[in-house]
Amino acid sequence: MTSGASALPTPAEAEALVRESVLPLPVESRPLESLAGAVLAQSVRSERDQPPFDRVTMDGIAFASQAWRQGQRRFRIAGIQAAGYPPLNLVDAADCLEAMTGAVLPQGCDCVVPVERLRVEDGFAVVDDDTPVEPFLNVHTRGLDAREGDLLLARGTRLGAPELAVLASAGLPRADVRIEPRILIATTGDELVAPDQPIAAWQVRRSNSYALRGALNLRGHQRVAEDHLPDDHAVLAERLSAHLATHDVIVLTGGVSMGRYDHVPSVLRQLGVKEVFHKVAQRPGKPIWFGIGSTGQTVFGLPGNPVSALVCLLRYVVPALAAMAGAPARGTEHIPLGSAFRVKPALACFLPVGVEYSSTLGMVAMPRPTRGSGDFISLLGTDGFVELPPGPREFAAGFLAPLYRW
Ligand code: AMP
Ligand code: MG
Repeated sequence: MTSGASALPTPAEAEALVRESVLPLPVESRPLESLAGAVLAQSVRSERDQPPFDRVTMDGIAFASQAWRQGQRRFRIAGIQAAGYPPLNLVDAADCLEAMTGAVLPQGCDCVVPVERLRVEDGFAVVDDDTPVEPFLNVHTRGLDAREGDLLLARGTRLGAPELAVLASAGLPRADVRIEPRILIATTGDELVAPDQPIAAWQVRRSNSYALRGALNLRGHQRVAEDHLPDDHAVLAERLSAHLATHDVIVLTGGVSMGRYDHVPSVLRQLGVKEVFHKVAQRPGKPIWFGIGSTGQTVFGLPGNPVSALVCLLRYVVPALAAMAGAPARGTEHIPLGSAFRVKPALACFLPVGVEYSSTLGMVAMPRPTRGSGDFISLLGTDGFVELPPGPREFAAGFLAPLYRW
């Protein structure tokens, strides 16, 4: 779809086009130790009841609450129930067993009084009279949290700390997840010079690849390669053709605008990458290009200006990677503006902000506009950007906007 100037997609429409166009990544089985941040491609059910047995939750003594109700306060200690051992049996209901946190509740017992509530003398435990003894006191009962066979993790779940604990608890040393995509960041521009090379007055340091790689790394994407391409149609075509064969995602920067040397859209079309959209009704980042390669590769042509490139990566490439992994779209964090801001153009506005605490509004986004999309120095000390609807309009302090963190 190529939009005329009057019918450019909004950012939300462009994101929806991205999500529905990308293809799911292949699935692989990986060991549990390597799964932080990965997206599940299988569901996970509880291996057993959770907890799997009536579990003692305090170090103390276990006994029958019936004896307590009959007035007994002094219990002979008949043995020790340690964690990791089969349940002992309380033979005489007038006795107790020492019991440790994590142990199975011994047979014949139904409550645990912690050591803090008793004193031990001559092999007997004497329980404080004001202890609120009742059945299952300090016992985490079997199956309270989950039943054997319950669905605990659905396909598409991103694995964080709680999910990894649940996988382990389900007896799964490995799980099926989406592969980590092979991402290529390809910068373009004859004026750009690497940080370690001599530089002339009319040249510019290459910075986009470092910013984009950093943003991807911070989100757990480590399979990131890089290439720098000249503003030459033939060379671009040759190198991108090779990269398309070896990557799942290609993120280009520069060369997507209307300049004589902006070859990226035509080269991609020539290589069989089907254009989904070119340009979005937004500032910065309006010239963004997005398409799908002939074998399903996700291809972005981001504008070269550093603020545009970074904003577009977070607004479109990161959701594309989530969709490729099969992770459902999640609601975006919203935050009130900390002060009024005027948007002049009739385009969605990506406004850099600093997140601060205000005593009247709580956490707020303070507008920190740059001097244009080439001014990446002004991003220093900001936390991300908010998306404001198209102007012309003055947005009052307190206006709630989605926040995208760097
Ligand atoms: P372009 O989108 O190719 O027209 O580039 C727009 C502006 O962004 C130009 O001033 C470029 O020099 C600058 N630019 C493009 N790519 C990079 C990069 N990788 N690092 C820093 N600046 C860049
Ligand atoms: Mg350029």
